[in-house]
Amino acid sequence: MASVSFRGIEKSFGRFKVIHGISFDIADGEFVVLVGPSGCGKSTLLRMLAGLEPITGGQIDIDSRVVNDLDSKDRDIAMVFQSYALYPHMTVRDNMGFSLKLRKADGTLTNKRVDDAARILNLTQLLDRYPRELSGGQRQRVAMGRAIVRDPKVFLFDEPLSNLDAKLRVAMRAEIKALHQRLKTTTVYVTHDQIEAMTMADRIVVMHDGIVEQIGTPLELFDRPGNLFVAQFIGSPA
Ligand code: ADP
Ligand code: MG
Repeated sequence: MASVSFRGIEKSFGRFKVIHGISFDIADGEFVVLVGPSGCGKSTLLRMLAGLEPITGGQIDIDSRVVNDLDSKDRDIAMVFQSYALYPHMTVRDNMGFSLKLRKADGTLTNKRVDDAARILNLTQLLDRYPRELSGGQRQRVAMGRAIVRDPKVFLFDEPLSNLDAKLRVAMRAEIKALHQRLKTTTVYVTHDQIEAMTMADRIVVMHDGIVEQIGTPLELFDRPGNLFVAQFIGSPA
C-alpha cells in the first residue's frame, strides 16, 4: 500500500499542453477512479504516475517520496492491461510469473506467488492453459493475476473492461472491487464510463480537458455536483 500525491502536474506533447496543473492526494489503500471524456488526459496522468511518460511540470510523490526521476521499474507499481496484452505463446502460469522471472526471482518463490494469486482469482484449474483457450473474463483475471504476483504498492487500471461485453463488465467490476477489499492495495482506476466510476470508487476525480473539475465520493458528486460539466457528465446515461 502507499499514498500518492500529484502536485501541480503539467504535461505537454511538443507545443500542445494536455494537462494543466493537476493536484490531489490519494490515501493509503484508497480506490480512486479517474473519469472523464475521451482525450481529457486520464491515460496520460496514469502513465506519468507509472513512470512511462515524463512529466513536464510539477511533482509526484509516492509515500512522501518524490518519484519524478525514478525509473518505472523502481516505482513498485503494477499496471493492469487489457486482456489482449497476454503473451499468447505462454501458459497462464508463465504469463503470471513472467514479471517475477524478469526480476530474477527464485523459481520456487515465483511458483508459490502464482499459486496464491491463482487461488484468489479462481484460476487454479487453468494454470496450464494458453490464453486462446480462455474466455474473455478469464483472460482479464489472468491480466490481474500478473499484477498481483508482484505485490505492488499501487495498482493502475486503464479502462480494463472496455473490451468485454456489458454483462461480463458488470461481473468484473464486482471482482475487481472484491479483490481490492481483500488486498487493500492503493488503486487508481481509469474509465470514461461514469456508471463504472460511481459503482467502484471510494472517491472519483472528474477530469475535463486536462484539469480536475471535481473530486469527491460518488454520493457527494451525485448530491452536489460542483458545476454544470460535472452535473451533466455524472447525470448522463452510459
Ligand atoms: P484519455 O485517456 O482521457 O482519453 P489521453 O491521456 O490519452 O486521454 O490524451 C490526452 C490528450 O493528449 C489527447 O488530446 C491526446 O491526443 C494527447 N496525447 C496523448 N498521448 C500523446 C502523444 N504520445 N503524443 C501527442 N499527443 C498525445
Ligand atoms: Mg485513455
